[in-house]
Amino acid sequence: MNEQRSAATSGAGFDAGPGEDLRHHLPILMYHSISPASATPRFQRFAMSPAVLASHLAFLSAAGYQTLTVTEAMTSLDRRALPERSVVLTFDDGYADFHTAALPILTEYRMRATLYVVTGYVGGTARWLADLGEQGRPMLAWSQLREAVAEGVEVGAHSHTHPQLDRLDATRLTAEVRRPKALLEDQLDLPVTSFAYPFGYRSSSSTAAVAEAGYDNACVVDNLPAPHEGVDRHVLPRLTVNADTSVQQLERLLHRPPGRGRAAAASLKRGLWHAARRVGPFQPQWRDPTA
Ligand SMILES: [Zn+2]
Repeated sequence: MNEQRSAATSGAGFDAGPGEDLRHHLPILMYHSISPASATPRFQRFAMSPAVLASHLAFLSAAGYQTLTVTEAMTSLDRRALPERSVVLTFDDGYADFHTAALPILTEYRMRATLYVVTGYVGGTARWLADLGEQGRPMLAWSQLREAVAEGVEVGAHSHTHPQLDRLDATRLTAEVRRPKALLEDQLDLPVTSFAYPFGYRSSSSTAAVAEAGYDNACVVDNLPAPHEGVDRHVLPRLTVNADTSVQQLERLLHRPPGRGRAAAASLKRGLWHAARRVGPFQPQWRDPTA
C-alpha cells in the first residue's frame, strides 16, 4: 500500500525508481579530507582535491539543493519543515585541511556542514592512521575550529581517539563518548549535539551510550539516504563520497533508491562485518568499502 502511494506521488522532478519517493528521504553525504596535497595510496580515496569539492557544491547549488547541518535537519524533520531539496554535508575526523581547503569553498557557496572532530588529536596529527602511513597528517587546531564555528559550521564529536566503539568495555566506551562532548563544549562554548561513530561501527550499547551522553543525533555509514519517518536519530545512515566521485556519480548517489531490500542488505552486511571483526586478528576497518 505504501509503495502504491509512493509511486503515485513520486516523479515530481526527482529520478526516483518505481515505488520510491525520494522526497521522503534525506541524503547525508560523508566526506573526509579535502586535500590539495598528495596522500598515501591507501588514504587516497579519503583525500578529495578542493577542485572536486568545488564541483560538487557548484552542482548542488545549481540544482537548487539547500544544505543543513545534521542537527538543523533533525529539527526541521521534527517540525515537518524540511525543505524538499535538502542535503546534509558532513566531514569526518577534523583534518586541518577542512579549515584551509573546505571552509573557503563552503563559504563561497554559502553552504552549511557538520564537521566531526576526534578531540584527542586536535592541534596534533592523525596518529591513529599509522596503518595507512598518514600518522603525520595535520589536524585542526582549536583556533581553526572556532573560526569554522564562526562561519556557521556545526561541530560534532567523533570520539576522543577514533577507536572501534563496538569493541570497547563499558568504562572506555563511556569515556570515548562523553569526553569529546565535554571538551568541545568547553573549548567552543556551545552545545555539541551531534556524534559520528568512528568507522561507522556501532552496537546497541554504543548507541545507548551516545544517547545517554546527551547527543541529539548520531551518524553511521550504511550508504543509504535517511528516511524522514521512523529513522532512529542515533543511527542516521550516510552516503559515502570518495575522492574521485564525479558530479555525475554524486547525482546518482543523491538519487539512490532507499528501497527496503537495500536497507536489509546494509543491515546484513553490517552484521557480517561485525562478526568478521570479532573473530579476526587483523585491522580490517580500512578494507570495508563503507568505512
Ligand atoms: Zn573517522
